[in-house]
Amino acid sequence: MARTALVTGGTRGIGAAISVQLKNAGYTVVANFAGNEEKAKAFSDETGIAVVKFDVGDYDSCVDGIAKAEELAGAPIDVLVNNAGITRDGMFHKMTPEQWNDVIRVDLTSLFNMTRPLIEGMRERGFGRVINISSINGQKGQMGQVNYSAAKAGVIGFTKALAQETARKGITINCIAPGYINTEMVAAVPEKVLASIIGGIPVNRLGEADEIAKAVVYLAGDDAGFMTGSVMTINGGQYMA
Ligand code: NDP
Repeated sequence: MARTALVTGGTRGIGAAISVQLKNAGYTVVANFAGNEEKAKAFSDETGIAVVKFDVGDYDSCVDGIAKAEELAGAPIDVLVNNAGITRDGMFHKMTPEQWNDVIRVDLTSLFNMTRPLIEGMRERGFGRVINISSINGQKGQMGQVNYSAAKAGVIGFTKALAQETARKGITINCIAPGYINTEMVAAVPEKVLASIIGGIPVNRLGEADEIAKAVVYLAGDDAGFMTGSVMTINGGQYMA
């Protein structure tokens, strides 16, 4: 039977590319989204991938959402991709508690909310893959993104600690730290700022979502069984961690 994968924020941007690449690799995929029904429906119609709406920042919603996803997949989830993320940028001296809390909740607490309900089943079955999407800005820090940088650095710590707990159970926990990828999130960056960002990328372009998605497929597979607790850096040479 095909292995199953659940991709959070899997209907748009990098997550959509991950969902499609995993499907192409033979997985039964369910993609989660937060509220953009129109995009989710168009994505599902186009790809045939089942979608399920819930907020990854809320633990009880995740428990319910995971149950729905497993029903749609027809089996327990083998591969969890914690991809959903948001930004609420602003200089720290002007940052509101809401900007801070929203980002920590969706970008970091979501890893607990999603992984905690799934980990026991993975332990029982002796197999699991958890792939977390961090960011270059969690590695190097970014002005105007203290909240986001803190959350994405937290993703790396989560990955390394949980990897140690689960290694003997056949469960690997890895993360990918993308650089600037050509998605709506980056399209929201002002043109001048974007040009200067690209100027600082040795490869001299933005990354493509598929370049991240193909790395996820590798990490999900049996061939990556010896790789755990790692941070895969895919950023065009912008930051060599
Ligand atoms: P997008 O903004 O294009 O897509 C975000 C996805 O996450 C959407 O499917 C959205 O659902 C979903 N989402 C947002 N909030 C929630 C929530 N509370 N619950 C469930 N789903 C939610 O993002 P990207 O593709 O650009 O980014 C994907 C990941 O990659 C993020 O973690 C981001 O931080 C990270 N990243 C992105 C980089 C980039 O250059 N783009 C660089 C480095 C890291 P809906 O459609 O319903 O809104």
